[in-house]
Amino acid sequence: MYHKPTYWNRKLLNFLWVGVFVSFILPIINYLFTDLTLQDYLFYRIGVPLGFEIIIMLILEFLNQYNYRMNDYIIILSSIAIIVVLNIVHMSVNYVVLPLFYVPVFIAVFMIGYKKIIFSCVMSTLCFLALNSLHSAMKYDFSESITFVFILSSAGYLSFELTRRYKDIYDDLQVSISNEQDLFYKNIFMEKLSKMDLPTNLYNHKTFHNYLEELFLQFQKQPFELHLALLDLDNFKQINDVYGHSKGDVVIKRMADIILDSIDSHGFAARYGGEEFAIIFIENNKKQCLEILEKIRQELEDHNFHEIKGTNVTVSIGFASCKACSSKEALFKLADKYLYKAKNNGKNQVYSI
Ligand code: GH3
Ligand code: MG
Ligand code: MG
Repeated sequence: MYHKPTYWNRKLLNFLWVGVFVSFILPIINYLFTDLTLQDYLFYRIGVPLGFEIIIMLILEFLNQYNYRMNDYIIILSSIAIIVVLNIVHMSVNYVVLPLFYVPVFIAVFMIGYKKIIFSCVMSTLCFLALNSLHSAMKYDFSESITFVFILSSAGYLSFELTRRYKDIYDDLQVSISNEQDLFYKNIFMEKLSKMDLPTNLYNHKTFHNYLEELFLQFQKQPFELHLALLDLDNFKQINDVYGHSKGDVVIKRMADIILDSIDSHGFAARYGGEEFAIIFIENNKKQCLEILEKIRQELEDHNFHEIKGTNVTVSIGFASCKACSSKEALFKLADKYLYKAKNNGKNQVYSI
């Protein structure tokens, strides 16, 4: 899961606050084992470091609060500053607090950036070396210092590799997510392909029958407005013969556009066969359906097909309502019968009873 940087900054700040709290509690217990006066102990071992740590933490909180893009490097440097202070204050037991120099490296692991890990490792090492050479009470000899630097570098190296491993996993995940997405879109596209008649953008024969079947089952449970229109272009063979098949295809596409425009979202239109179409209406009453069909018929008749030199194209339509139809086949047969009647009555008309 992806977290905004501020989420992890908050976690890191909480962690540092816990560190501040511990660095306050532990010296209180340690007082039992020291020979400093209470006043000196409270001031040098508790007051000064605590004050310093709190100031740093408040600065970090301020930056976080006002949603400035909290610079990860500021957090790393702040944690190093706190650790240096703790080392100075607890110099007499610095072998105990010395491992704290690893902390900035681990903090950098959270930030998932190679540069930050190198930066934290180098800064921790430099601060340790500086402290060792500048502070008289810290007396690690050359070989001890080198050993510690080596261990610190090892921690840095492992953190580096850990980040690489994380990034590998993350990249693999990204690839599989994007593959999954591709597959998802392909599936949707394939589903559409299997349902549509691509040249006309209408539903295909199979989808038409499936949908009509479903509607009929529904109709049997609870009757509703269910009407079917079958449309067949008139004398289409002739258009093909005179102007060619490709011009015939243009006419079919234009017819599909006219149907889609006319039914809007009120009907379900399919290309039933080559130049045959079907429309299922479930929202309109018979009168409204007939108006829509008449509009389609008229629009086709009026359309100027310049591709076929303005030749008139007309359509015959059979319309049947499912009032007490016994099956979807019965409804279909009725519409087909009426289409036949429309053809026989002279074509270019809507026929229904
Ligand atoms: P009718 O008025 O009786 O319907 O006469 P018609 O000539 O239209 O006869 P019919 O409906 O039986 O003929 C359909 C013709 O449509 C036959 C075929 O050549 C043509 N056709 C079928 N599918 C396509 C197609 O996808 N593209 C084209 N251009 N023509 C097609
Ligand atoms: Mg036909
Ligand atoms: Mg025809």
